Amino acid sequence: MDITGETKLVGVLGFPVSHSLSPRMQNAAFAAMGLDMVYLPLPVGPDMLEAAIEGIRAMNFLGANVTIPHKIAVVTLLDRLDQSAALSGAVNTIVNRDGALEGHNTDGTGFIRALEAVSSPNYPETSVLLIGAGGAARSVALALADKGIRSLTILNRSLEHARDLGEILGRACPRLPVKILSFEDETNGLPKDNMMVINATSLGMEGNLKPLPVAVDTLTEDHVVCDLVYKESGETPFLAAAAEKGATTLGGQGMLLHQGAEAIHLWTGKEPPVDVMRQAIESRRSDIPEEL
Ligand code: NAP
Repeated sequence: MDITGETKLVGVLGFPVSHSLSPRMQNAAFAAMGLDMVYLPLPVGPDMLEAAIEGIRAMNFLGANVTIPHKIAVVTLLDRLDQSAALSGAVNTIVNRDGALEGHNTDGTGFIRALEAVSSPNYPETSVLLIGAGGAARSVALALADKGIRSLTILNRSLEHARDLGEILGRACPRLPVKILSFEDETNGLPKDNMMVINATSLGMEGNLKPLPVAVDTLTEDHVVCDLVYKESGETPFLAAAAEKGATTLGGQGMLLHQGAEAIHLWTGKEPPVDVMRQAIESRRSDIPEEL
């Protein structure tokens, strides 16, 4: 990589970011596109987010991605929001337009593109059980609502956060039936018509391996099961268990790929090479010895 005084900087703000495949994926895209740009991992603890955002401005970064746990907190630190970010109240991509920081959210589009690459959802017939109510869950819920799903059940550890998401959906899509459950409810089994199950919590990430409150035994080949969490070493335990029951599964890599491609488009105005980005993700996985 030939870094010069002209090289444009972007990066991912999160905590942790050491697991992130985005630097490898995005740098592969920039190289293939012949762009003088570099993408950096930027580990930023919650108490330093405001300073980090000022840093993006001060150091004239072209932009940044934002990941766990900052997607919601960053909203109030930006100068303006596009429609996707304003609706969801969550930002995963910042674009620096001459010092004005603009918040976008490419997670929802990324999720839908990844989903449609592995299945052909009949949205009006699909009920969704969404586990999680954080930044990623908000974007996925809004994207699915926009596609006209039949109903949505939100299952989250914090009822308050689930209700916040319920209110966002009520404003954006008042006709969508939304039900809210907490982890304490003993209704964790899958209602019969919840044919799509999505994990949008960080459970399943390295160091956060507590099982999800989903009765995996009730899954069948009629279910589509998605996990936004991605692991370098293969499937999450949740997705592996769902695959064993015959469900159609979608891991987090597909969404990572498509939300990242959309972010590059926002920063550069150019279409990135998705195949190169996919190879960059997969080459990392094949670097890892089987026994790990
Ligand atoms: P976030 O805004 O911080 O939300 C975290 C969510 O996880 C909340 O629902 C939170 O519940 C829940 N949670 C965290 N720790 C938990 C625990 N110990 N027990 C139960 N629930 C717990 O994070 P985010 O940005 O939405 O990201 C969520 C996950 O999606 C992360 O693993 C992230 O890597 C992944 N993601 C992947 C992609 C992709 O491209 N594949 C894109 C975006 C996000 P509370 O509301 O109760 O705190």
